[in-house]
Amino acid sequence: MSIVSLPEIMGPAFEQRYGVAAFNAVDDITMEGVIRAAELSRSPLIIQISVKTVKFWGAEVIKDTFTNMAKRVAVPVTLHLDHCPDPEVAKTCLEVGWNSVLFDGSGLSYDENFQKTLEMVKLAQQSGASVEGELVTVGGVEDGVGSEEEGELLPIEKEIEFIQETGIYCYAPPIGTAHGFYKAAPSIRYDRMEELVTATQMPMVLHGGSGLTNDVFQRLIALGAAKVNISTDLKKTYADGFRTYLEAYPTKYDPLKLITAVRDDVVKMAQAYFKIFGSEGKA
Ligand SMILES: [Zn+2]
Repeated sequence: MSIVSLPEIMGPAFEQRYGVAAFNAVDDITMEGVIRAAELSRSPLIIQISVKTVKFWGAEVIKDTFTNMAKRVAVPVTLHLDHCPDPEVAKTCLEVGWNSVLFDGSGLSYDENFQKTLEMVKLAQQSGASVEGELVTVGGVEDGVGSEEEGELLPIEKEIEFIQETGIYCYAPPIGTAHGFYKAAPSIRYDRMEELVTATQMPMVLHGGSGLTNDVFQRLIALGAAKVNISTDLKKTYADGFRTYLEAYPTKYDPLKLITAVRDDVVKMAQAYFKIFGSEGKA
């Protein structure tokens, strides 16, 4: 069975210190592209979906498309809901069988976030699903969720308490990375990542992956980032793929050739990340 839980994918990655790419698929072309890439590279894979994309297609259509595509390959694949501040949307996804959700309560007070995350974990457990947690907002708006600025840091003891006592499986730490395109090289808090992993022995999630250098990826993965989110680069590859093909063949009207060209660009992009993150050959 190729469809597995988030811990079945992140657990071995955390232990062996490689990263699993979590691509924000937007449709069947991008989903099929990254799944195909995972099969070619023998890599585990996380498909994640933004709330905006859930609202566009519906949780069930996405789940069905994912199931049908994922069951054709042998590598382990899982379906995850990205940054979700609305418990109702997360609930809808869990009800139709998604494997995990990021309940993003970073806009709430500590106590409220703690309580709602705890409730989400209980709900997810009913269907064997897992929860990623977020306490301090990762900078940069992604698909309409979040804030341009990184949230104010909390004492590390609060973060450790949140990670250990809410029952979340993995955590999105505030380490200076951001969503969207980087205007300048970010200043990364490696020490924060190290302290959190040392204290909790829990896998971390690297947000704002697009645009980081290989060295930054590899250092953070070595410290315990077992899930590495790639959204902006996928969007760029997708849009550029259409543009390049249509500019090269302005009078060809063959949608399947167009889609194949775009899909193949997505495959190449994903395979390059599997190599950088060390997940190639791990499945
Ligand atoms: Zn994110």
